Amino acid sequence: MNPGNLCVLVLLNFVHVGVLYALASRFQQQARGEWFRGGMVGLNAGLNGLLIEAILRQWVPAVGLSLLVALGASLYVSRSSLYHRFIGWANWLLPMSWLINALGLIFVGINLALAPLGYCSERFRALRVYLRFEPHTCTFIMTGGAIRALPAFKGFNMGNFVFLKPGSEYLLRHEIGHLLSLAAMGAAFHLIGGIDESLIQLRYWEAYAEYLADSYNQPTRSVLSMWR
Ligand SMILES: [Zn+2]
Repeated sequence: MNPGNLCVLVLLNFVHVGVLYALASRFQQQARGEWFRGGMVGLNAGLNGLLIEAILRQWVPAVGLSLLVALGASLYVSRSSLYHRFIGWANWLLPMSWLINALGLIFVGINLALAPLGYCSERFRALRVYLRFEPHTCTFIMTGGAIRALPAFKGFNMGNFVFLKPGSEYLLRHEIGHLLSLAAMGAAFHLIGGIDESLIQLRYWEAYAEYLADSYNQPTRSVLSMWR
């Protein structure tokens, strides 16, 4: 496929997910809203399957991973701890998530490359990093570093990588919730949710993607409680 066609397809995917996201957001907590959330999961499952088949020319992993993602449309499945383990690790294998994981890997590389400066001089102590691993969902957690959350925020998620400001470890489960949403609904959902939270909502925690991610941290009785 030539780069021009690929750009058009990526743009169409963003528009498609953008429309579904806006409708899911508009009708959240209503039965109609659930159709649009399911639409985003189904679209992501199908596109992951098509891409895996196109890359590997093997239908077994394509169908298997596509089905795993599609199961996330059911709240009964998406709230299970076993499902979090599968979808968290499988996120590495999902082409629709690779853009975000690649950015996360680049950010980790930049932060690690600059970290020694932080140990050479007190002036640059903000560059010091602490890296650890959360095995349940395969999440790498980086605290501190040159690339960090915007001033109004304490952390952010880039797929299987979470970046926290020092002292903000309490945010970890919320950020892992974003990883689960990425695996289920893809990079376009992740980026549109980020734009919604940072630029559109007056209160960032009222963004649709925020409600879904935060349910991994603080489950509620609402249908927005996707992850627990
Ligand atoms: Zn968030």
